[in-house]
Amino acid sequence: MKKFYLTTPIYYANDNPHIGHIGTTIFADIIARYNRLKENDVLFLTGLDEHGEKVYLASKKEDKEPQQFVDELAQKWQDYWQKLNISHDIFMRTTLPEHKEIVAKLLNQIKENGDIYKATYTGVYCVGCEEFKSERDLVDGHCPEHRSDQISTKEEENYFFKLTKYIPTIKKYILDGTLPLEPESKKKEILARLDGEIHDLSISRQNVPWGIKLPWDEQQTVYVWVEALMNYYTATKIFKKDDFWPADLHFLGKGNNWFHSVIWPALLLSLELPLPKKIFVHGYYNVEGKKVGKSLGNAVTVDDLLEKYGTDGTRYLLAVSMPYNSDSEVDFAWFNEKYNSDLANGLGNLIARVAKLCENNNISGVTRNLAIAKNLGTLIEEYKLNEALSYIWSEITEADKKINETKPWELDQEKAKPILEDLVLKIQQIAFNLKPFLPETAEKIMKQFSGEIKSAPPLFPRI
Ligand SMILES: [Zn+2]
Repeated sequence: MKKFYLTTPIYYANDNPHIGHIGTTIFADIIARYNRLKENDVLFLTGLDEHGEKVYLASKKEDKEPQQFVDELAQKWQDYWQKLNISHDIFMRTTLPEHKEIVAKLLNQIKENGDIYKATYTGVYCVGCEEFKSERDLVDGHCPEHRSDQISTKEEENYFFKLTKYIPTIKKYILDGTLPLEPESKKKEILARLDGEIHDLSISRQNVPWGIKLPWDEQQTVYVWVEALMNYYTATKIFKKDDFWPADLHFLGKGNNWFHSVIWPALLLSLELPLPKKIFVHGYYNVEGKKVGKSLGNAVTVDDLLEKYGTDGTRYLLAVSMPYNSDSEVDFAWFNEKYNSDLANGLGNLIARVAKLCENNNISGVTRNLAIAKNLGTLIEEYKLNEALSYIWSEITEADKKINETKPWELDQEKAKPILEDLVLKIQQIAFNLKPFLPETAEKIMKQFSGEIKSAPPLFPRI
């Protein structure tokens, strides 16, 4: 069996998931499920990044100890993943004691390789990003993704990682495909930035009370991004999945691109560990032109989505609107329209119509061995999920057309039978193709169309 290790970013544990988080995770889940259908040995990791100033401040705001705060959030996030039918194998948490131990070992190793030195750093810092910002990153003096009160000037003694030493190698690897970065537009962004001025990376912080202590200087904590990136590796050790390294796919939103495509490979090069086999970067979900996120206060809550559209409705809407190569504009009006036209009418109507006709004509469904359609598989492997869904919906339209043309309800049973049997085969294939995307719905349809076929309540009630 071919091993397939894929990861979402581990998300910042300072609040409940928002639409951007669940979009990324649903997308990764679809890829994980698809690979399992191909009988690959899948390891799917998601989790939480539980250290750092932002988490600490959020815990204080709720008057909680940071550990209690992240424990509660970890439970909440896992509840959401269950509600969204996410099939992760590992829910990684960076407060695991084993993670801290392995991170310390890795940092010692980087230091022994001569890639760490001490220096004073002065810069503009965005707490929202937990990142020092250069002039180029700022708009009107503040971070474009966070409010202006998240910005401050910091000067401190830090330890630095010799990022610049690895830049030529990383650039070469991105260009020659040793480190595949997709899609092309996101690769170009990184290459353009690699052509600019790059500084070494400060990998420790002073006075951050909530983090992993530097093994050789306990006054400093490890820069949260550095240890968070290491989770992809530490998890394979902690959960005894060593043979899955390196990751086949790091799947992430564009805000994390630099960290995953440059900093993470540089750390791995220093550690002399194999690099990830692919990095795929998707765009943002925008509401009213702004990235969805807590700091900007424009979040459509995940509870809203689940309540309105259910698990598979939510999965569908986020997958179909997930940009392959750009950001996407979403709003409730569009979601409602899409839900009604594609799920309540398109898929739901087809299933209801054919089931009724089969019931009237005593048609049974035969269990068959099925596989994902080849064209569909190609689209999923290119991570063009909205196109993959269009492909499935074109099959739905095709089946509808066939019913309208052949009018089986006007035929006697003998003549209707072969037409309906053919439609049953089509529906079974559609259901199978839907498995990675809408697992619960696919299962329902499969069940309804095996053995004696009967009408059932609508799959997706209209809204
Ligand atoms: Zn920021």
